[in-house]
Amino acid sequence: MNEKFVYAPGPTSVRENVRLERARITTNPDVDEEFVEFYKNICDKIGKIIETKNPVYILSGEGILGLEAACASLTEPGDRVLVLDNGIYGRSFKDFVEMYGGEGVYFSCDYNKAIDESKLNEFLSVDHDFKYATIVHCDTPTGVLNDLSKICPLLNEYGILTVVDSVSAMGGEEIRVDDWKIDIALGGSQKAFSAPAGLTMVSISEKAKEAMKNRKTPVIGFYCNLNIWENYYANKWFPYTMPISDIMGLDKAVDNILDEGIQNVLKRHEKIAYATRKAVSEFGLELFLEDGYSNTVTAVKIPENIGAQRLKNHMLSKYNTLIITSLNPYEDIILRIGHMGENAKVDKILYALNIIENGLKDLGFESNGELVNSFIRHLNN
Ligand SMILES: *Cc1c(COP(=O)(O)O)cnc(C)c1O
Repeated sequence: MNEKFVYAPGPTSVRENVRLERARITTNPDVDEEFVEFYKNICDKIGKIIETKNPVYILSGEGILGLEAACASLTEPGDRVLVLDNGIYGRSFKDFVEMYGGEGVYFSCDYNKAIDESKLNEFLSVDHDFKYATIVHCDTPTGVLNDLSKICPLLNEYGILTVVDSVSAMGGEEIRVDDWKIDIALGGSQKAFSAPAGLTMVSISEKAKEAMKNRKTPVIGFYCNLNIWENYYANKWFPYTMPISDIMGLDKAVDNILDEGIQNVLKRHEKIAYATRKAVSEFGLELFLEDGYSNTVTAVKIPENIGAQRLKNHMLSKYNTLIITSLNPYEDIILRIGHMGENAKVDKILYALNIIENGLKDLGFESNGELVNSFIRHLNN
């Protein structure tokens, strides 16, 4: 594949030390107990990043595996599940719920705003008979960030378990699993962690574990059954062969975060996201969102006479740079600047913004502002 500059809200750039780590000679992860310790250690480090004492597991499969596994493990036929819907990933959770026999009930909100927890509270005061609820932390196609610190404790008060898709936020946004009472938190290796795609991280609370164990019907399937992980450490045994090279790469990526300091990492994301939004607005473009801006991805509306897809194709063919649009129905409306993980670095975003600035001008966009200069000006205030 030709090398190009890629600036997407995941998969993100992978630092050289992570790439090299995956090339190292490995042991046998099935029988070597040193690997069990290594695996436990990286899970504990991830637990530190997401502020939880709950057990954390790394599953062999891209982020979607985690979403499906949570639904497969919790849902029994006829269970009612609340699906919080203010974005494309949020809405799609219902498919997983219903695939496993549950009844998904939407709480739908505007897609250009964060979920309003007072409206959710009103809804719940009338109907709260749900086994669990699904919530997306950052809904990546539009970049909307939901306030888990309010939503999850509220659901918890009503006795509803919480399943959080934090795939595009974890590692770039604050997430405090224990304080916020998140029963199942899901992350992916390829977003803000900046490791290659292929791994899911999942933390499971005691209450979620009880719910999964006290089912009347068995979990359908094996790969998606979260119960199979429970005693891996005591038994020194994994349900299937662990992708050791991928996990060694992720371990290095996790160390990159811990070495920088998680608070510094979050601050870096926040500064870059803020300056990006300011610069885009001053340049004369409109942000897709009215509130709920995430620090990991910024969705920018591209004027109709230019079109997001034409801009994307132009930047790729003229500048060998891949900056992507969004998913249906936004694919020609939104350009997404994904500033997460290794991509939330000043040099990388300067490059990306420079290409966007030039690409837009090439296609006739008229602006009195300067995208790159405006970004620099806002970086330190
Ligand atoms: C990236 C992502 C996932 C993982 O799914 P893919 O579509 O396969 O990349 C899940 N949830 C969210 C919010 C994501 O951004």
